[in-house]
Amino acid sequence: MSIILDGASVAARIKEQLESRIRRLTERGVIPCLATILVGDDPVSETYVRMKGNACRRLGMESRRIHLEPGTTTEQLVEVIRQLNEDSTVHGILLQHPVPHHIDERAAFEAISIEKDVDGVTTLGFAQTAFGFGLYPSCTPAAIVAILDAYQLPIEGKHAVVIGRSPILGKPVSLMLLNRNATVTICHSKTNQLSDIVLSADIVVAAVGKPRFVQGSWIKQGAVVLDAGYNQGSVGDVDYEACLGIAGAITPVPAGVGPVTIATLLKHTVDAAERCDL
Ligand code: NAP
Repeated sequence: MSIILDGASVAARIKEQLESRIRRLTERGVIPCLATILVGDDPVSETYVRMKGNACRRLGMESRRIHLEPGTTTEQLVEVIRQLNEDSTVHGILLQHPVPHHIDERAAFEAISIEKDVDGVTTLGFAQTAFGFGLYPSCTPAAIVAILDAYQLPIEGKHAVVIGRSPILGKPVSLMLLNRNATVTICHSKTNQLSDIVLSADIVVAAVGKPRFVQGSWIKQGAVVLDAGYNQGSVGDVDYEACLGIAGAITPVPAGVGPVTIATLLKHTVDAAERCDL
């Protein structure tokens, strides 16, 4: 039987610990505020942004939602980010990835000031994560590590196979697992014999963006499977049913990595608000 890694309860514990910190800040007149920027109308991104805003409000934080037209230019987006950088009532800025293709996403990420980079997307934020001393590592990678820790699943010495190498997910989670002394293999769309590599993993992280991509037959008996994917219809990147019973432990979708990602984002925003309040 696989252990179901219940992200909802891990997230609930993180949020519980934030309640008193938010109360203390609010008493001093500081309401932790997360600004989210969505460009365009991608339904999955809209769901992410809505969930993040709702989670903020439920905890008594402020959520500032900025929804820009699909035709927004890089310059216009950068200008919106600059204004948020200068707004002292905003503590964290999250630009929802991916942005439409005509926008230079890297330039937009770089415009976020490091103090407000609560999702670790800037070059400096990424580098700090790579060195292992970042203030705000990217939230989904941090959530994956938090789930492993919450269930006391060992990382050191394990072979972790990460499928995906995006700058906000695959790469940072690989580095975080490496910093925790896993032996890490990073796979991507040009990887040969992917299924054989995954079959050798003690820990599998799926960050592909393709529904039910990871097959049950790719999973070694007892391996830990973390599904970061979220596709339309609340479907992950792992064929969950096929992996159940083979994996030693597995995250479901929904209620796996997603809620812990959101809780981590709230935590980083509260951290940032406290630093401003010093
Ligand atoms: P992304 O930027 O599109 O990156 C996808 C990665 O998958 C790329 O590195 C790509 O390789 C690799 N890939 C694509 N096809 C592949 C194949 N056939 N074999 C092996 N690798 C392949 O996606 P992302 O932003 O990292 O997101 C990945 C997934 O996580 C999505 O489902 C997204 O919705 C989800 N996500 C979840 C959360 C959460 O809170 N749970 C947060 C963020 C993202 P190349 O580099 O070679 O193109």
